[in-house]
Amino acid sequence: MDSLRELMATEETLDPPDWVDVQALSHRIIDDAIGYLKDVRERPVWREMPAEVRAFFSAPLPREPAPIADVYGDVARNVMAYPMGNIHPRFWSWYMGSSNFTGALGDFLAAIQGSNLGGGNHAAGLMDSQVVDWCKEMVGFPASASGTLVSGGSMANIIGLTVARNAKAGVDVRERGVGAIPKPLRFYASDQVHSCHRKAMEALGLGNRAVRRIATDAGLRIDADALKAAIAEDHAAGFKPACVIGTAGTVNTGAIDDLQALAALAAEEDLWFHVDGCIGALIAIAPENRSLVAGIEQAHSIALDPHKWLHAPFEAGCALVRDASAHRSAFAVTPEYLESTPRGLASGQWLHDYGLQTSRGFRALKIWMALKEHGIEKFGRLIDQNIAQARHLTGLIEAEPTLELMAPTTINIVCFRHRLEGASEDRLKAFNTEIMLRLQEQGIAALSDTTVHGRHCLRVAITNHRTRRDDLDLLVRQALRIGKEIEAAAPPG
Ligand SMILES: *Cc1c(COP(=O)(O)O)cnc(C)c1O
Repeated sequence: MDSLRELMATEETLDPPDWVDVQALSHRIIDDAIGYLKDVRERPVWREMPAEVRAFFSAPLPREPAPIADVYGDVARNVMAYPMGNIHPRFWSWYMGSSNFTGALGDFLAAIQGSNLGGGNHAAGLMDSQVVDWCKEMVGFPASASGTLVSGGSMANIIGLTVARNAKAGVDVRERGVGAIPKPLRFYASDQVHSCHRKAMEALGLGNRAVRRIATDAGLRIDADALKAAIAEDHAAGFKPACVIGTAGTVNTGAIDDLQALAALAAEEDLWFHVDGCIGALIAIAPENRSLVAGIEQAHSIALDPHKWLHAPFEAGCALVRDASAHRSAFAVTPEYLESTPRGLASGQWLHDYGLQTSRGFRALKIWMALKEHGIEKFGRLIDQNIAQARHLTGLIEAEPTLELMAPTTINIVCFRHRLEGASEDRLKAFNTEIMLRLQEQGIAALSDTTVHGRHCLRVAITNHRTRRDDLDLLVRQALRIGKEIEAAAPPG
C-alpha cells in the first residue's frame, strides 16, 4: 500500500502544477502578440542576427526544467525579434502570404484540442472536409470532386501528379511499381514551371526528364504550338504523353498559361490536366481579375496554397482532384489496425486515404476561422488590391527613366532593374543585387531576384494584405537613392 502511494506521488504530467500562473503568462503572451502585429510597420522588415543570438541556438539539450516565463523570455528575445519578415507590409520576396491574427488563434485552438486528422469521427475531421469543399467551390470544381489539405503547394502538386501518374500508367503502379509501366510517361509544362515539379517527378520514380519543359512566348506563357509538337514527337518516339501541367501564375513573373486552351488540348490528346494554381487559383474569387484563370475549373487536379493568398499561417496547401475515386484509389490502404467501426470514434472518414501522411494536423481551423470572419468576398478584393498595387508599381517603374521593367506584369509580380549606363549584364546583376541587399539590410523592404529571358532582375511579389501604395512609392524612392549611393562610391567605367 505504501509503495503504491509512493508510486502515485511520483506520477508525472506535462500539465502545470498551478494553472493560475500559466493563465497570467498566457494573457501576457496574447498582449505581446497583439502589440507585435499592431506595431509591425514601425519595425525593420528584416535584420541580421548578432552573434549572441546565433550562439543561443547552439545551447545544449536541456535536461533540467526551467520556468515557463523564462522559456518565453528566451523566445521573445531571440526568436520573435528576428523574424523572416513576411508579416511586414514591405515584404515582397519569393512568394508567400503575410499570415493573420485570426489564423494564429485557429492554430492555437487546434493545438489545444490536439486532434489528429488522419481520420475518426470528430468535429475537426468534418471541418477539414468542409474547408476542402469550400476550396472546390472557390475554383469552380463540382461538389463530387475530392481533395485534401496538405503542408503546402509542393505537396499538393505531388498529390495531383501521383493521381495523374496512376491514372495514366496503364498498369497497377501501386502494386507493380514504375518499372512495369509499358510506355514511359511524359508530362509537359512550361519552362517557367515551379521547381517542386522536378522533386515530384523524382519522388514518383519517373525522373526529372519525364517533364518536358516547353518554350514560352513573350508573355512567358506556354507556347501551344511547341507543346503540340512535343506531344507528337513523343508519340512517334514510343512515349506515352500522360499529363499537361498548366501554371496559373508562374513564380518568376506571374504569367498565367492559357488554361482553356490547355483543357481543350488535354481533352483532344487524352491527357490528364493538372493546374499548379499555388499562386493564381484563388484569383477565381477576385471580382476584377477572375477571367485571367478561366478554364481552371476544367482541370483534373489543382494545387492551391491557402498560405499564400488566403494568408493562412504556415503551413496550408490544398490538392483537389475532380475524380474522387481516382484520388482515393491512389492512396487508400486499410491496415488491420485502422479498420472502421459502425459507430463510435472510428466510424468517420479516413482522411489519410487521400494523401501520404497518416497523422494530420488540424490545418483547417485557421483557414476556416479567417474565412468565416472575413468572408471570401473580402479575400477576393484583397487579391484584386494586390494586383492593382502591382500595376501601380509597374506604372512608377515605366515612368522612371533609370528603372526598367523586365517582364510584363500580369498579376501581382513585378520584375524590374535599375539601369546602369553602358554596363554589362554581369555588372548590372552585381549592381542590382547590391541594391536588393541594402534594402534588406537597412530594413526598408524585402525583395528577391530572378532571371527572366536570360536577364537578371529584381522581383516584387505582393501577396500582402498590409501593403499600401505608399509602401511601393517608398520602395522606388529608396531603390533610386541606394542606386545613386552605389554609383557615387564606384563610378561606372
Ligand atoms: C509556392 C509555389 C509552389 C510551392 O508551394 P509551397 O507552398 O511553397 O510548397 C509551387 N508552385 C508555385 C507556382 C508556387 O508559387
